[in-house]
Amino acid sequence: MKREMTEPLTLNIYDTLTRQIAGVSSSDGESIRVYCCGPTVYRDAHVGNLRTFLLGDLVKRVLEFSGHKVKLIQNITDVGHMSDDFEEDKMLSQSKLEKRDPFAIARDYEARFHTDLAALNILPADKYPRASECIDLMIEHIKKLIAMDYAYVGDDNSVYFSAAKFASYGELSGNRLDALKPGHRYEYSEGGAKRFHADWALWKAAGNRTEMIWNTPWGKGFPGWHIECSAMSLHYLNGHVDLHIGGIDLRFPHHENERAQSNPLVQESSGNSEAVSLWLHGEHLLFEGRKMSKSAGNVVLVSDVIQKGIDPLAVRFCFLENRYRSQMDLSWASINAAYTTLQRWREKYQQWRVVGAIETSRAKELVKAMLQDFLNDLDTPRAMLKLRAVEKELELEDSEKLYIFESVDELFGLKLLKLPTRELSAELKKLLEERVAARDAKDFTRSDELREILLENGIEVRDTSAGQSWKWIRF
Ligand code: AMP
Ligand code: ZN
Repeated sequence: MKREMTEPLTLNIYDTLTRQIAGVSSSDGESIRVYCCGPTVYRDAHVGNLRTFLLGDLVKRVLEFSGHKVKLIQNITDVGHMSDDFEEDKMLSQSKLEKRDPFAIARDYEARFHTDLAALNILPADKYPRASECIDLMIEHIKKLIAMDYAYVGDDNSVYFSAAKFASYGELSGNRLDALKPGHRYEYSEGGAKRFHADWALWKAAGNRTEMIWNTPWGKGFPGWHIECSAMSLHYLNGHVDLHIGGIDLRFPHHENERAQSNPLVQESSGNSEAVSLWLHGEHLLFEGRKMSKSAGNVVLVSDVIQKGIDPLAVRFCFLENRYRSQMDLSWASINAAYTTLQRWREKYQQWRVVGAIETSRAKELVKAMLQDFLNDLDTPRAMLKLRAVEKELELEDSEKLYIFESVDELFGLKLLKLPTRELSAELKKLLEERVAARDAKDFTRSDELREILLENGIEVRDTSAGQSWKWIRF
């Protein structure tokens, strides 16, 4: 159910460049053009990555809910993203590890990325261009930068961007050029071919590399990671980005460099000073106190959540209860608690359905207030508080509660109207079987222990003359 339309409402977000709250608007009067940095497909996305990808979904939902047209592009990085020590392409490292073709690996993880998005009810983007299929766009972009003297071909046949040529370099991240120390390795080893320490490679000469390389006017090689997003965003969004989204760690150097690469071309072609109107950055997800990352060893995947028999929308629920601009700490306890509430709401919805929805002015006001929270720099925690209050509110009739749930379900994306069924996970099935075996072996200590564990997971077991029986006490 959509809001009754009058004038489209404005979404305000915190813009990293101006460090101010600003309204998101369409620069072509047709649609709001959004670009969200996508995954590097050499491994599964963890739920931390998904917290960032959820931002694209929330922006799309709230804009569409309030009457705008949105065009959303998200890239797939399948070449050019170097490992943290800048020694090797992440795709090629994984290819060595798995002893498989890097493109085969990329396509597998890309498919899994889409499955994960669907599990969190993240709306699909309009297009997911792959870096490896946009090499021509990048070469064209680089050629123009060379012609405009923003880039040069080094002695090593790599092409570098002249950081000092771009006068406002550093404005996005607050890293000033004179404060960036010489000697620090910003991008790739370049054996002294760079003219200035803070320059970075737009295109890297192949050297010994034999895979994932392309022909260019400068010889064989492969693209830098940052040029990918400049070339793809401007091409697929027709020369301008109204809102650019990414995780906070991408602010520097990825987005700082993207801005420097994109602005000169846009300034020449359209006269606009900025290629991107607004920059939105999401803070990191921590898990049990530490930033979720492969290196920290605390990665949680959507498949881990499903394995425990929990609807992954419980993770979405947790994300919504925290503001995107704050770090948030996730734990299995918070996921479980969110799942219990979500399933209870689904049960309640099924009960309220008996009476039928009635639209009253106070119910409409509540829906409007929740939308207003989303429009106010995605204040989803406040909107969630209101949704929580609806369930318990004695003043509201069931028919009004029904109306509210049906009205806001698309906005929150929690599938509140779904039946609260629960699949028995392989893990829980094994525990049930283990308990039968423990009882058969008369190991009552173990069977009691298992009863407790199952109870914590929402399953009540009974011992009858016919053997063990069980039921869900929590969906
Ligand atoms: P990658 O696939 O490594 O290129 O990362 C994809 C996105 O996930 C980027 O926008 C990162 O900023 C973001 N990201 C990485 N780690 C986290 C985290 N722990 N919490 C939230 N976002 C993250
Ligand atoms: Zn990017």
